[in-house]
Amino acid sequence: MQPFSYKKVEQADNAVALVSPETQSAYLAGGTSLIDLMKLNVQTPKQLVDINPLPLTQVERQGNGVRIGAMARNSDVAYNAMIRERYPVLSEALLSGATPQLRNMATVGGNLMQRTRCYYFRDPAFPCNKRVPGSGCPALKGYNRIHAILGGSDHCIATHPSDMAVAMMALDAVVQTRGPKGARSIPLKDFHLVPGNTPERETVLEHGELIVAVDLPATPFAARSHYLKVRDRASYAFAIASVATALELHNGVIRSARIVLGGVGTKPWRTHEAEKVLLNKPLNQDTFQAAANAAVQGAKPQKYNGFKVELTKRTVMRALATVGGMA
Ligand code: SF4
Repeated sequence: MQPFSYKKVEQADNAVALVSPETQSAYLAGGTSLIDLMKLNVQTPKQLVDINPLPLTQVERQGNGVRIGAMARNSDVAYNAMIRERYPVLSEALLSGATPQLRNMATVGGNLMQRTRCYYFRDPAFPCNKRVPGSGCPALKGYNRIHAILGGSDHCIATHPSDMAVAMMALDAVVQTRGPKGARSIPLKDFHLVPGNTPERETVLEHGELIVAVDLPATPFAARSHYLKVRDRASYAFAIASVATALELHNGVIRSARIVLGGVGTKPWRTHEAEKVLLNKPLNQDTFQAAANAAVQGAKPQKYNGFKVELTKRTVMRALATVGGMA
């Protein structure tokens, strides 16, 4: 690990003022991802600004929806009664991630900023366009079993690792930030970027911009929602494929739907094609199969991850059957 300076702040404005002018400066929240990457010399900030004292830990009503403070711990959100009742997909996604110890430390803001689990990214012995722009992508011709089948480019095929963000995307979440240019609201669908030619740029955040909250609106589908994660072992593993789904039903007919894929896309992957297939259709296996086929339209599997296409389809079908009460 490289040497770094450390400051603790109690106000969001002070945090932004400290990080913004220093390009080698980073926020420290739960530290469950950043500290690992610092030990590996993948991230080497010269200054850490500890934002743990910021009063941003509440989960509270906001109009008809809910506002979650960026420093709320993953466990506190997962076990919050309002979240479990009104947004079950979010509680399930959080409880499927990491371990109880990590969930007790990890924050909502930090979870959105997680870096990929690509093996080559996490090992500085290899080149990596995301870590060192222009150095190459060994995953393209290397071992790419865990990599993306949706949203990749010739420069990067790394998957986004978060479960929480996949669920939040299905809930039409909006990220609230504060930065050197003031406050802004960013719909989560616009927050993460596909790699394109610039895989080192993962979100639309400017340097120094701080996530302060995530808002979940009231929607007619949120309460009937579900997260299904498929992984190599039963816990403490990242998704090989996952699905966050939510349905609004009227007399057994689907009136609105959300289907978002995790573990297979370079960002949390909302599949509008599959959602369209579901509209005004009855709940049955034919409907689920058609949505599953649509969900993987345009997939580009690599040498070692072709199995993800069929696995994603089966995961979509099972998640829909569960949320539709037919499992
Ligand atoms: Fe780096 Fe992306 Fe290639 Fe992985 S897939 S080695 S993160 S450029």
